[in-house]
Amino acid sequence: MEYDAAVIGSGVGGLICAFQLARQGKSVVLCEAQAVPGGYATTFTRNGFIFESAVHCVDDLGKDGDIRNFLEETGLIDKITLLELKNFARTVYPEHDFIVDFKRENFIDFLRVHFPHEQENIDAVFKTTDRFYAQFDRFVESSLPDWLESLLIPFLCPSFIGVSRVTVQQFFAKYFKDEKLIALFGDLWHFLGLPPSRLSMFFFLLAFRGYYANPTAYVKGGFCKLFKVLVEELKNSGATVHFNTAVRKIVTSKGKKVIGIETDKGEIIKAKAIVSNANAIDTLTRLLDDDRVRKEYALEFSSMEKSLSGVQVYLGLKVPAKNLGMTTPMLFSSSTYDHDANFSYIVCGDYDRCFFEMVDHSQIDSSLAPAGKGTLTIMVLDLYKNWRDLSREEYREKKQAIAQKLIRRAEKYLPGLSEVIEVMEVATPRTMQRYTASPEGAIYGFAPTVSQSGMNRLPQTTKVKGLFLTGAWTQPGHGVHACFLSGLMAGEEVMKFLG
Ligand SMILES: Cc1cc2nc3c(=O)[nH]c(=O)nc-3n(C[C@H](O)[C@H](O)[C@H](O)COP(=O)(O)OP(=O)(O)OC[C@H]3O[C@@H](n4cnc5c(N)ncnc54)[C@H](O)[C@@H]3O)c2cc1C
Repeated sequence: MEYDAAVIGSGVGGLICAFQLARQGKSVVLCEAQAVPGGYATTFTRNGFIFESAVHCVDDLGKDGDIRNFLEETGLIDKITLLELKNFARTVYPEHDFIVDFKRENFIDFLRVHFPHEQENIDAVFKTTDRFYAQFDRFVESSLPDWLESLLIPFLCPSFIGVSRVTVQQFFAKYFKDEKLIALFGDLWHFLGLPPSRLSMFFFLLAFRGYYANPTAYVKGGFCKLFKVLVEELKNSGATVHFNTAVRKIVTSKGKKVIGIETDKGEIIKAKAIVSNANAIDTLTRLLDDDRVRKEYALEFSSMEKSLSGVQVYLGLKVPAKNLGMTTPMLFSSSTYDHDANFSYIVCGDYDRCFFEMVDHSQIDSSLAPAGKGTLTIMVLDLYKNWRDLSREEYREKKQAIAQKLIRRAEKYLPGLSEVIEVMEVATPRTMQRYTASPEGAIYGFAPTVSQSGMNRLPQTTKVKGLFLTGAWTQPGHGVHACFLSGLMAGEEVMKFLG
């Protein structure tokens, strides 16, 4: 049998794309290397505690958000329970401590009170960003053909061009003199993996609205509940889904057109189109069977920068973290306003000073922990190189040592934390790599620099006819919301290709 489409990987992008194609009557096969769906966005259980493997908060799951609208339109919303979030994160700096609660006005008020000398500039920034969002929404909702849209961008969306060419630091420095204010505006950088001095303003703005202005929600039982529902729906619509099945080759006719995929079990599955949700580097420089195209992509990728990785310490607690002082589901802590310094602490593995964050999902959904108990995850960004060369024993010891260090740091906010730990697991850049095959455990695909974001990011289409990409390495970028959009975009491309 020849399928209309074969999808490699069941991360957010792969699942959404497969689901869209199956909904439109296409025959689909999906192969996932792991035993469970979701990729990074999966969950795992230890002694009755359910942990999100990676994801802390997903934007646009609230009323009128992209993902919410999709769930309503497809009826998927009836198969999950959404818990609306009231606030998002407590954000702590040496001289500032504020709550981000999805209400733009509250954030503006906070800034106006603390930076009275910059009030006019604060208003000017929000005016500019509002103009950008209005143009962005018009662009997304436009029904013009893609080629015409691209041509008309300078006229329909002039503010795209401005923000696409600058970093977050360059953008805010045009408005503000106060470096602390710039630092607070740029705080979200840790969700995006590059300091403001290197981060694309275009990509930053897409994320900023999601976390600072639009309400969102949590999926009861963990985000993976949604992905499990998607798998069930895929199967119900006749698609074939194989878990524990890695794809080891994309078979083409001399790199020109796809023929199918070869699995690690030696099975050849024929398909007219292939969508890879495996990372772009593996897909195009390892899985693809044509040497010439592989070399072309390897050359292209050799000058591209991968994103950082991270360390997560998952804790099952004898009491809810709220009892210890966790007043919001998330807490971000920055020891300095200098984000370049913050980034350099990450690069050199300075776990005492680098930015760190905590998330307490059981505060939103008590079903994630046994009755009367709670979960807590501590995260820091990190680099694969800080873990790469360790022996088995050194690796085990470092994991324990870093976990203890981070718990001690968390105790500044949650006194007594170390005494109530019942379960602990630690994930490192090596873990990230092992479970998703992401090179060097990169957690956000290619780093969102100016030259690797917006229209400059890898598109869904490739040099090989019938081969498409989806997920964090491609447009519009990383994060569940962006990967969801990437899955839809890949689905559209495949539908066009299949005619
Ligand atoms: C620690 C951490 C924290 C994060 N926090 C947030 C957050 O709070 N909010 C947010 O929105 N995002 C967050 N993210 C980012 C978000 O999780 C990712 O951007 C997103 O889930 C990536 O989805 P994807 O579609 O790229 O697929 P991936 O998650 O990369 O999944 C790819 C899938 O392909 C499979 N695969 C790979 N190779 C093969 C092969 N050869 N054959 C078959 N299958 C294969 C893998 O097993 C995997 O299941 C976080 C990520 C990490 C790691």
